[in-house]
Amino acid sequence: MNIFYTYHPLRINFLSVWICDILNQFKIPMKSTSLEIIAQLKEHGHQAYWAGGCVRDMLLGIEPKDFDIVTSALPNQIEDILEHTIPIGKEFGVILSIKDGNSFEVATFRSDSGYSDGRRPDAVLFTDAKEDAQRRDFTINGLFYDPTNDQVLDFVDGKKDLRDRLVRFIGDPETRIKEDHLRILRAVRFKNNYDFQYHPDTYLAVKNNAELIKKISTERIRDELNKMITGNNPAQAFEELYELGILEHIIPELTQLKGLAQPLQYHKEGDVWDHSLRTLTALNDEEASGDPLSPYAPSLALTWATLLHDIGKHETFQQDGERIRYDGHAEKGADTAKKILKRLNLPTHIIDRVHWLISHHMMIVPLLEMPDGRRRHWFLQPGFEELLELCRSDSMGTLPKDLTLYHKLLKRYRSEIAKLKLLPKQLLTGDDIMATLNIKPGPIVGDIMNKIRELQLDEQLTTKEEALNWLTENQENLLRLKEK
Ligand code: ATP
Ligand code: MG
Repeated sequence: MNIFYTYHPLRINFLSVWICDILNQFKIPMKSTSLEIIAQLKEHGHQAYWAGGCVRDMLLGIEPKDFDIVTSALPNQIEDILEHTIPIGKEFGVILSIKDGNSFEVATFRSDSGYSDGRRPDAVLFTDAKEDAQRRDFTINGLFYDPTNDQVLDFVDGKKDLRDRLVRFIGDPETRIKEDHLRILRAVRFKNNYDFQYHPDTYLAVKNNAELIKKISTERIRDELNKMITGNNPAQAFEELYELGILEHIIPELTQLKGLAQPLQYHKEGDVWDHSLRTLTALNDEEASGDPLSPYAPSLALTWATLLHDIGKHETFQQDGERIRYDGHAEKGADTAKKILKRLNLPTHIIDRVHWLISHHMMIVPLLEMPDGRRRHWFLQPGFEELLELCRSDSMGTLPKDLTLYHKLLKRYRSEIAKLKLLPKQLLTGDDIMATLNIKPGPIVGDIMNKIRELQLDEQLTTKEEALNWLTENQENLLRLKEK
């Protein structure tokens, strides 16, 4: 079976994202190339326009990420006219065009019919621009642009909604949600990522049908959540996912933070839910940090870790005498976060980083009190700068806000890290240790290597020779350790 001919929205997305990623390394301006493709299609007597997201973004003054093209040309004609094409969803009229190192989805005008599974159309009919606009989700996503005469084609009152900053379904909201339930999440994403409001009918329909999201594949949900959480208003987006009754179906563990009490003397901001969302907002608030490590966009892993950093407080909540405690919440929370993100099918390297960040997010105080060698070991961990950012956001998401400890740790990190990065990775190999002590492979070798690394980071050992001497001098003690 040729997978390119099997239409599935996911597959198209995956393939085009993957191909775009590779091609975008060559960076020839996409906009001018997309205009050439439109011109080529027009030369052969077809209509061709920019469609959907790129028109919306252009009218909002935002640089579009990609340029999707719609045309009256049929898939075979598109393949004949354009040079390098991949039939990623040919039966549904979607052809990928590769040009000048970029890729473009070129789609024949179509109307979708029958959504018996609530996820994708049973069949499509090739039609005209007006009908193609009707199959799109929101009015702001239903616009076309004809670059030849600089004209926006608006069959759905999209320009008006862009002006009023409204997310509004094209047609009857209930029907549109029943066709493809993912639109529930897309409504929340567009509303929040673009700082819009919901049209009242759209809001009500999303709220009344929230439960349908359960029928959507985790991969499609994951992609929307990833865009939402790294978007402009992640905290507000999650607040609305809760309020609209969506969150309980996709991340029920998070809803347990709502109303979960915190000790008032340390957390005047509210419950654990409020704290988590404030922390997420603080992550993106470089200005307010006063001393950001570097002006970078937080990674997807750091963003998820920030939202979920206190997810373990639900399981570990206890009232101990005068105060509320959550002993071991970092470790428990890391495991719960891992379960959630596995369920959402996030890549393993992201899940592992989230797990590491959450399980270590309570380390500011211990790090400040540790012996130099051990602390420096932590400074050199690959995720440490992200851990610092998580700690900063955590402190900023707390009322009263107190960043003293964070700044102390940041200062230490900055004063030491450059020199630490220049140190050789290890003074002795496992073979050196086994040969010197005349021992066989076993956990003890790793333990000794760690000890030598600590002494090196503590500047007690600086050369291989010193390390070998130390090994011989401490041979007896070390071997006794082995026996234990
Ligand atoms: P972005 O790329 O920033 O996520 P976009 O609007 O380009 O935003 P895409 O998912 O790339 O969104 O889809 C391109 C266009 O296809 C949309 O603008 C919309 O017109 C249409 N579209 C995408 N998904 C759906 C859907 N589930 N239902 C109806 N129309 C959709
Ligand atoms: Mg797009």
